[in-house]
Amino acid sequence: MLTKRQTDELLGILSSPVTPFDCGTLCAPGNGGVPVCCHAESIVPVLYKAELAVLQKRSRLWRKYVPRTAQQKELVRDTRPCDVFAVCKGAEHCERDNRSIACRTFPFEPYLDHAGELAGLVYNYEFKGTCPLIGSRHLILPEFIDQSLRLWERTFEFSEEERQFYLGHSQSLRRSFAQRGKRIPVFTRAGLRRLPTARPGRRTPPPPSRAAAAPSASRRERRRAGTGRSSR
Ligand code: SF4
Ligand code: SF4
Repeated sequence: MLTKRQTDELLGILSSPVTPFDCGTLCAPGNGGVPVCCHAESIVPVLYKAELAVLQKRSRLWRKYVPRTAQQKELVRDTRPCDVFAVCKGAEHCERDNRSIACRTFPFEPYLDHAGELAGLVYNYEFKGTCPLIGSRHLILPEFIDQSLRLWERTFEFSEEERQFYLGHSQSLRRSFAQRGKRIPVFTRAGLRRLPTARPGRRTPPPPSRAAAAPSASRRERRRAGTGRSSR
């Protein structure tokens, strides 16, 4: 489980915006003027418990999310012990330096290759159709890619559990792309690469190992979890 000191360090690594323009201009006009990923009615960020403690010490921006419906309660129940759902005061009160890791990394997550190495960033396809950046041709800033990769490199140095968690996601992604006969677009420091879903000499990806089994549905959305009221 990540500590306060570790999450504090992680928060200091990634500050770059995702795109050279305010990508909220893509989604906010169709969402009552609020960027979709800042709209707690649609998406609730999941923070590390230590991270929430760090941010609450710095500012009054964040509070623990209180589920109301049976579906929301179930979602919260399924959260890993190291994680917590949290909500901020809203887009109009955003404090850039006190954004969560979920805010800073969205809509990307780390991709680990067949060898378990961090190969780059991939879109979090759980939010395809919700976040217009996903699958788009908009430029993703190289600084964002570099800082995000540094954040994940450091996270995996800190926590083997996190590495295994995203290894499971990456295996699920390989299976999903393999079923459609497509390569996976991966954002690397050297640019966008389209990586194969199978190891050389294999036709389909291998089944997941026990340790890195496919995560549950809620875990797949652990960085940003729909409340069930989302339009996606
Ligand atoms: S990351 Fe996606 S959902 Fe969030 S503001 Fe940008 S376009 Fe909108
Ligand atoms: S902290 Fe800022 S970026 Fe994060 S959800 Fe709230 S308004 Fe959006």
